[in-house]
Amino acid sequence: MAKKQKLCVLGATGSIGLSTLDVVSQHAEKYEVFALSANHNDVQMFRLCQQYHPEIVVMVDHDAAQKLEEALHAADLPIKVMSGKESLSIISAHSSVDIVMAAIVGAAGLEANLAAARKGKKVLLANKESLVMSGQLFMEEVDRSGAVLLPIDSEHNAIFQCLPNTYRCGRTPGKEVSRILLTASGGPFRGWSSEKLSLVTPEQACAHPNWQMGSKISVDSATLMNKGLELIEACWLFSIAPEQISVHVHPESIIHSMVEYIDGSVLAQMGSPDMRIPIAYGLGWPERIASGSKALDLFSVASLNFEKPDTESFPCLRLAQEAFQAGGTACTVLNAANEVAVKSFLKGNVSFTAIPDIIEGTLSEIAVDSINSVEQVLAVDDEARRVAEQIIMKLE
Ligand code: NAD
Ligand code: MG
Repeated sequence: MAKKQKLCVLGATGSIGLSTLDVVSQHAEKYEVFALSANHNDVQMFRLCQQYHPEIVVMVDHDAAQKLEEALHAADLPIKVMSGKESLSIISAHSSVDIVMAAIVGAAGLEANLAAARKGKKVLLANKESLVMSGQLFMEEVDRSGAVLLPIDSEHNAIFQCLPNTYRCGRTPGKEVSRILLTASGGPFRGWSSEKLSLVTPEQACAHPNWQMGSKISVDSATLMNKGLELIEACWLFSIAPEQISVHVHPESIIHSMVEYIDGSVLAQMGSPDMRIPIAYGLGWPERIASGSKALDLFSVASLNFEKPDTESFPCLRLAQEAFQAGGTACTVLNAANEVAVKSFLKGNVSFTAIPDIIEGTLSEIAVDSINSVEQVLAVDDEARRVAEQIIMKLE
């Protein structure tokens, strides 16, 4: 029997982390959970420890780590607990680990993802923010180490599936590919006017019509920033120019993206909106394994619709396009300002329509520089967060 592959799940308590563990539990003969991480939810992590028996767990929060350690000790579960954000890179680069699921939300995932890439792991990338903030550095690490990078974001996973079998992320797809058609659900407020959008509440923004996701990506989907981040993500993953990517709003979320070839053929990947499908694809690659998703019933879907994105009412997509065009640290600033603005919106401190204003204001205050090191990226991320907070203080 083939040796089991050892897995490190970064962001194990989140929506993607839990879906990953769900797929893994359907294939206990193939995968073994070696390490899990979370920010501060020790109660949920304790349950995951009882179910998956990892060897190491990282709780970024020190108090949560202590509580978890005590609970594990009392339950007689011999699991090593580490704390602090530096420990994330220790587990993602651990010599025992074969596969890393990168599912921390936001910039907090960058260093651990880079550490996994540097060690040549099979990296299943859900954390798009790390590619947005430092795509160049990340792709260089992948190239240098020969890490196998597999996109988990449903659109990018679809694109990867529609490219030739021999294609590997980071390479150009070649002259045969003419365009990538990136689909977007349009979010819960598709068709809304700017006036109506200014009254949107966090609860409304987090209720996505097709997908169950963490709160940050739900808000990103509602502002269309998610599509902006995904456009940048696609440019890095597939080494393609933004002009070759066309965003198609497709409210049913059945086609997850498409690749157009020079002969006019358009290949699409379809499936129920269930993240276990791209996760299972990434885990099993180059083979296919079951995901637990229900079969797609096209008779009940009945029709598939497409429209152009509304960048007037939803300026975030345009801001992302402009930041990518500006290059260098502009996307680092875009990502950091967006994280700060979304957090502030979720706390009820700023309106939904203030999100693009905060990002645009931050971008206009920080000069663009070329990217040359992780330290520099982290410093720019810090600075952009400070500037965005100042803009928010003036709004309040
Ligand atoms: P989530 O909010 O449900 O979970 C986030 C996870 O990250 C949790 O385990 C949390 O403990 C951990 N975390 C949060 N802050 C942290 C910090 N500062 N340090 C360390 N760990 C921290 O988020 P999610 O919806 O699972 O999304 C995770 C990533 O996957 C995001 O980058 C998102 O854009 C991407 N993604 C998600 C989906 C989806 O359907 N949920 C789809 C595509 C891509
Ligand atoms: Mg997506």
